[in-house]
Amino acid sequence: MKDKKPRTRLVHGGTKRSQWNEVSEAIFLTQGFVYDSAEQAEQRFIKAGPDEYIYARYGNPTVAMFEERIALLEGAEDAFATASGMAAVNGALMSMLKAGDHLVSARALFGSCLYIVEDILPRFGVEVTLVDGADLDQWRDAVRPDTKAVFFESMSNPTLELVDIEAVSRIAHAQGATVIVDNVFSTPIFSDAFGQGADVIIYSSTKHIDGQGRTLGGVILGTQEFIRKTVEPYMKHTGGSMSPFTAWVQVKGLETLDLRVRAQAHSAQAIAEALEGHAALTKVIYPGLASHPQAELAERQMGSGGTMLSIELAGGKEAAFRFLNALEVVVISNNLGDAKSIATHPATTTHQRLSEDQRKMLGISDGLVRLSVGIEDSGDLIEDLQNALNAA
Ligand SMILES: *Cc1c(COP(=O)(O)O)cnc(C)c1O
Repeated sequence: MKDKKPRTRLVHGGTKRSQWNEVSEAIFLTQGFVYDSAEQAEQRFIKAGPDEYIYARYGNPTVAMFEERIALLEGAEDAFATASGMAAVNGALMSMLKAGDHLVSARALFGSCLYIVEDILPRFGVEVTLVDGADLDQWRDAVRPDTKAVFFESMSNPTLELVDIEAVSRIAHAQGATVIVDNVFSTPIFSDAFGQGADVIIYSSTKHIDGQGRTLGGVILGTQEFIRKTVEPYMKHTGGSMSPFTAWVQVKGLETLDLRVRAQAHSAQAIAEALEGHAALTKVIYPGLASHPQAELAERQMGSGGTMLSIELAGGKEAAFRFLNALEVVVISNNLGDAKSIATHPATTTHQRLSEDQRKMLGISDGLVRLSVGIEDSGDLIEDLQNALNAA
């Protein structure tokens, strides 16, 4: 499959068939595996070969299909599937860092990611420096010869600020640091983070990869050496492995990923253009709009504005709530990448834990609403959003 295009890899990559030769991938809903003999069991615990399994926390055929398919898509040597996106973030960082190491991280992070770098890692003696991810001078000042890794979200939540993967990788690599990218908002379809310098990529597969809001999952992608020698021992012994059921749902999610994400981004662009300039709004934030301060970087790094946009209502929280409550097609929730369009009020939900000062620093005002664009008819979505804006 390596010589095939991404859409073909997403449909056929990593497929393993049982003795029944089923067309659709099988779900191996089993914790364990039977050995032919005591000698075989002994041998497998000494060294499990390819397609030899011991226990589902260590690996499972359905999970392996998911890992191989996403690794093929990304052009990664290897992948480890995890129980959630946060298990992937925690696993990648905790498995490679130890007391005395230095980590540089962008400040604009998903709340739980911020908790790991700000609260958990320092507890174990890891020194963490937070920077404004869009400011390359801050990266240059913060990365030192003893910096073990840098960590950032390639597009931040909810203000859709991009980090220049190529430029930050150059700064990090000059000091020998590993580049770890949380690539959720960029999606596997629009990002070539490995080609741009990333060493490790993390996805919450809960988002676009599941794509229909059913399961929690995550994945860590990197070299075979990093995945098998650093990540795997940590993950398999600490219990963060993906379940076979999740892998089965998400391996099917990968089949349609390209179609869904491109349709979502196409609609997001149309919605951003339709809403920009509306009297109820102070701004529309979408990397595919010429008004986005990093429109050029978005085009170079992703070739798209992505599937997410944020809007800021002039009337603050009251107007934002009136807008949300007037929506008829778009649902109020906090997932993203779903087939259903979703509106979120970050200040009172996903980012409620932050202080007012922290929210201000990250640009999360009381009037800000984040939109995850689904696969519904874009005309219906525009009409729904415009009606709700008029009501606000
Ligand atoms: C959702 C998300 C996560 C966490 O993923 P879960 O699957 O919810 O654990 C991490 N990073 C980003 C950018 C996310 O959007």
